[in-house]
Amino acid sequence: MGTEEKRNRYGYIVNDDGRECTVCGIFKSWHFFGKSKNQKNGYNYLCKDCSKQRQKELYLERRNCPERLERFNNIVREYKFGDVREDGMVFFSYCVTFSEKNNFGKWISKENYENKVEIRKAGDIRRREEYNKVKRVLKRGKIRDDGKIFFGYSQTYASTGFEKWMDKHEFEISLFNECSANYLLKSLSDYGGKDERTMEIIGLPNDEFIDYIESLFEDGMNWSNRGMWKGEWDPENPKWHLDHIIPLSSVDNLEDTKHLWHYTNLRPMWGIENLSKGKKHLEEERDAFLAKRKAAK
Ligand SMILES: [Zn+2]
Repeated sequence: MGTEEKRNRYGYIVNDDGRECTVCGIFKSWHFFGKSKNQKNGYNYLCKDCSKQRQKELYLERRNCPERLERFNNIVREYKFGDVREDGMVFFSYCVTFSEKNNFGKWISKENYENKVEIRKAGDIRRREEYNKVKRVLKRGKIRDDGKIFFGYSQTYASTGFEKWMDKHEFEISLFNECSANYLLKSLSDYGGKDERTMEIIGLPNDEFIDYIESLFEDGMNWSNRGMWKGEWDPENPKWHLDHIIPLSSVDNLEDTKHLWHYTNLRPMWGIENLSKGKKHLEEERDAFLAKRKAAK
């Protein structure tokens, strides 16, 4: 292999059997080089191993670049998986490592798309089967050696054996989310429930809703002292609740109940105030708020 020492103008041995890789400098047979349309002889000038390594470095460099990440976080995400473009290409996803010129989006052929859908479907089935086999022995709130708290089992957490562990802050926010979502569902179920996503009823994406509630925190309120609506007031250990400024009890149908779940009608409130508020409310205030929400639709 490579007995004849033919060197190209850059000093690398290149012959019919193979060549020296320009990165690792090792002579390898053509079998170890990728095909390249840009090269005269049809092969890459660096070997597959080096090429793979370089791509990995490039990927990490792109993924970890703070300026790039900043630009990525500010792009307008107008497409979702499966959207078809005029030229027939199908949208795959946005990723910080994709080309910035293409708005960090990746478009694939219809054939490729159908392939991916099949693979995803098979993956979903496999994941569901594995998920159903999980023995649910952990209890919510269990604390691990590293301080992480167990929240629950979830199909989306395949990589951790379907266990959802989080730090204290994430745990408290997740509890709040779950609690609020259950409360919302329960209040709507009396009138037939909802079709739209919780986010659409509240009017804010979840993380913005969390920020909004936090922005209304009074002195002493934090995510650790949220109460559970059970309503016992303890001045030594005060708790706040998610309050409807115009109470849910003031309306009696699905549409109005949804309106009262709009974030502009929600606020954190110390339990004692919440309890003393009782069913007292001004009908005029309620009607004005509902009129505003209906006009906004
Ligand atoms: Zn190499």
